[in-house]
Amino acid sequence: MLGSVHSWELVTAVDGPGTRLTIFLAGCALRCLYCHNPDTWNIRRGKDTSLSDVLALISRYEKIMKVTGGGVTLSGGEPLLQPAFVRRIFRQCAERGIHTALDTSGFLGLRASNSLLADTSLVLLDVKSGLPDVYRQTTKRELQPTLDFGRRLAKQDKPMWVRFVLVPGLTDGHDNVEAVAEYAASLQSLGSGGSVQRVEVLPFHQMGRDKWHELGESYPLEDAQPPTPELVDRVRDQFRFRGLVVP
Ligand code: SF4
Repeated sequence: MLGSVHSWELVTAVDGPGTRLTIFLAGCALRCLYCHNPDTWNIRRGKDTSLSDVLALISRYEKIMKVTGGGVTLSGGEPLLQPAFVRRIFRQCAERGIHTALDTSGFLGLRASNSLLADTSLVLLDVKSGLPDVYRQTTKRELQPTLDFGRRLAKQDKPMWVRFVLVPGLTDGHDNVEAVAEYAASLQSLGSGGSVQRVEVLPFHQMGRDKWHELGESYPLEDAQPPTPELVDRVRDQFRFRGLVVP
């Protein structure tokens, strides 16, 4: 079986617990204005990679992942554009006792079968905005599928880290953040409760700007600034106020 893989990296303290092998799958259905990986958008720009090559890569780092309490994270792009590939990789990881994390916007959550989710240890659910119109402005897509997917996960008691990228002038509106916080808090009462283990507020940065230019795309956040520490604190407090854990 082949999948389209953009790249991979070994990381620590991001994309899930411990040291992680994060594999970026090519292709994405969203067009986030702040995307720092626009080179992953087109599935055809990825490299056709066999399942056995991915498993060999995982084997190479299996020991360090296990020693550090880490694992494999599938990111992108949007991994759920290639659900069969994800399912096969996670199945193999589960058999080997390797922790798995799925980094997704949830927009294609319907493509994640229950068997795929059964082999997923953690979902990094990127909730890119809380108000439908701001979500549309931010991603060019609809919010509802993400909300539905998160609820389905919570009902299954699937551990989740909710992630929210804070962009001044785009996603930082008080009401927009309130809507994300209210939603994340509402997930805590589904299933046995407490699926959302943490909320990560990710400050916008300009590290993707050159990639937009290289692709010949006009970059809509050319002049956007990273959030001030005060703004980050305000937003983190909005989540904490709802009883959510914000590291
Ligand atoms: S979901 Fe991720 S990869 Fe896709 S456009 Fe948004 S930030 Fe970029």
